[in-house]
Amino acid sequence: MAKQEDLFKKVISHAKEYGFIFQSSEIYDGLSAVYDYAQNGVELKKNIREYWWKAMVHMHENIVGIDSAIFMHPTTWKASGHVDAFSDPLIDNKDSKKRYRADVLVEDYCLKIEKKIEKEITKAQKRFGDAFDKSEFIKTNPRVLGYQEKIDTILKRLGKSLENEDLDDVKLLIEELGIGCPLSGSKNWTDVKQFNLMFGTKLGADAASSTDLYLRPETAQGIFVNFANVQKTGRMKIPFGIAQTGKAFRNEIVARQFIFRMREFEQMEMQYFVKPGTELEWYEKWKTNRLNWHKSLGLGEDKYRFHDHEKLAHYANAAADIEFKFPFGFKELEGIHSRTNFDLKAHEKYSGKKLQFFDHETNSNYIPYVVETSVGLDRLFLAIFSTALQDETLKDGSTRTVLKIPSILAPTKVAVFPLLKKDGLPELAKKVINELKYDFNVTYDEKDAVGRRYRRQDALGTPFCVTVDHQSLEDKTVTIRNRDTMEQERIAITDIAKIVNQEISFKKWISK
Ligand code: ATP
Repeated sequence: MAKQEDLFKKVISHAKEYGFIFQSSEIYDGLSAVYDYAQNGVELKKNIREYWWKAMVHMHENIVGIDSAIFMHPTTWKASGHVDAFSDPLIDNKDSKKRYRADVLVEDYCLKIEKKIEKEITKAQKRFGDAFDKSEFIKTNPRVLGYQEKIDTILKRLGKSLENEDLDDVKLLIEELGIGCPLSGSKNWTDVKQFNLMFGTKLGADAASSTDLYLRPETAQGIFVNFANVQKTGRMKIPFGIAQTGKAFRNEIVARQFIFRMREFEQMEMQYFVKPGTELEWYEKWKTNRLNWHKSLGLGEDKYRFHDHEKLAHYANAAADIEFKFPFGFKELEGIHSRTNFDLKAHEKYSGKKLQFFDHETNSNYIPYVVETSVGLDRLFLAIFSTALQDETLKDGSTRTVLKIPSILAPTKVAVFPLLKKDGLPELAKKVINELKYDFNVTYDEKDAVGRRYRRQDALGTPFCVTVDHQSLEDKTVTIRNRDTMEQERIAITDIAKIVNQEISFKKWISK
């Protein structure tokens, strides 16, 4: 555990030191759970967004994108159920005066049991060596089975109690499990209460005539209210999808774990409109599609798992999370929900406008069902960044810190160095930059010895370093160094773009 905590601390400090993420308003001591993306972070974030957009919008003839406003008519949130039901169950500790999400306290308790399972596996792995069959062990070891049963029973009860709004039972569960305040250990709890997560604001100049608004807590509703507009103007036929990326705001109570849970964050969502009755088929298809998309980034197949929901949101008839193995354990990265026709039906009712599709084959109208894929851009950033950050021991015994970001997402694709700051080498290096900058984000560096410059680019995740030396002046060749293999090759200046393009080809990455 200590090791994982250390790794997470390193992730946070590396993100700051190398210009990826700063705390918001840091000079005023920061604003809790709000972060700014710095010069390199903004590039990585933009590249992740684009990788998603291309895969979801450009690769599907029947999916289009929109960019709806953050402010929406307040009735939107009444219709969607957010005014009445977008809340978290909170519990206060009477001694430490700290407030927690009751469900998270229970889930964290289960995480500790999961750690015990992992310990048993590691122990057995050591004992049996190569002969160890992990999946067989998990299926048959009595201790592991006991732990797993305990987790399942607890989560099932939690899910049921939350679904039935039985908050007294959630408190009882916390007491029965003997869960104490993570800070003080005290078990002196208040009752569990619901707390709405939406931020309110006002539109208008004076108090009397102003309208109460909410900052959107999800981007999805901007898609639903535009369903008919897009369907008609885009002449879309069912099934079809509408995608969008953008900011969402939630007054999260337990905002921690860096950019994992923020009060202002960005979502990348796609709503897929389907014929009623076919939604579960599409739900399974999108589960597979989205998992494959994540895996194409090459962070490791074992980093992902599905978590099928016991407790379904008021609008869903099936839901699963794609969980990712963050430095603090498996946690939700993306949600895939079969949202039925709940939202369109509710907007029809509240707006009085028809939100239906006319099916020429059957000559009838219907309100489409919806399958949603919803991923947090910041969470994805954290997943990629924390997995990419590695300390390597090299053959000569020295160490290096390297950010093995998938090259297609790397903030800077090529760093160009003159070997020395003289003899016309900087001039030629800048010429190389001027050729490449139209196609790639490139950077120039002439400070310090070349070895240190390589290390700096490794820590920034730059996949290629190009060095201009005296031979370059004679034969127009340079050396190109690969971040991951650290191997260098001499190539013609005119071949740089081709090599980089091959490495960061979208087609190559997405087909993985
Ligand atoms: P959680 O259970 O972690 O609160 P959620 O189930 O409420 O998440 P959704 O409403 O399904 O999340 O939102 C879709 C995605 O948006 C999540 O999978 C997550 O990646 C991201 N997300 C949600 N809340 C936050 C947040 N506060 N900060 C960063 N990302 C978030």
